[in-house]
Amino acid sequence: MILDADCLRANLAQVEQRIAHACSRSGRVDPPRLLVASKYLAPDEMSVLQGAGIRLVGENRADELEAKWRKWDGVFEFHFIGHLQSRKARQVLPCVTMVHSVESISLVEELDRRTEKQVQVLLEVNMGGEETKYGIFPAAAEAFLERAAAYRKVMFVGLMTMAPLTADPETARPCFRGLRELRDRLATTFTGRYELSELSMGMSNDYEVAVEEGATIVRLGSALFASA
Ligand SMILES: *Cc1c(COP(=O)(O)O)cnc(C)c1O
Repeated sequence: MILDADCLRANLAQVEQRIAHACSRSGRVDPPRLLVASKYLAPDEMSVLQGAGIRLVGENRADELEAKWRKWDGVFEFHFIGHLQSRKARQVLPCVTMVHSVESISLVEELDRRTEKQVQVLLEVNMGGEETKYGIFPAAAEAFLERAAAYRKVMFVGLMTMAPLTADPETARPCFRGLRELRDRLATTFTGRYELSELSMGMSNDYEVAVEEGATIVRLGSALFASA
């Protein structure tokens, strides 16, 4: 992928403006953090992100993450946003400050065993009900966190979801609102154990709706890399 620096800057400015408008429409003061999905880029191509002032990137694959982290550690903060197999936990841990996509107790166990310091994670929830999607169903979230709470080094700091892909971003609104409401309930239930402040939701096609519904991290790729 050839990524033009001017094009990226223009796309980024537009995205930031749309985020600002979504914030003011919904009466928000603090904007969400913008995470750039790096799966579209080779390690060498990430210099354009640096040039555009991007600091936070999310990678989907363990091997790619490690390659990018080796090259760019200290320049970017890395999150892991893809499906993580337990056996890759050890590889991912040194590279990231957050794993967005935790949805199995075996992964929680493996993260707890392999990490030296506390690791911040998000619980991935399948709000759309699609069988093909990763993530646990909302009704199972409380029981999941009750089990996960035994693993003291794995700190759940919020929830993450991927809305079903549709042409109309409004169809994602119930997913995002549902995730926020689920977070509010769980935050009450787990007071003193987990501070569930993060909502990782919204991608290129639906991030404005996600911001209106309270996203604290939006994960963007194609909206930034499309050429004008
Ligand atoms: C690729 C990806 C994104 C960004 O998707 P776009 O539609 O390109 O913005 C966000 N989250 C996850 C988990 C991804 O894999």
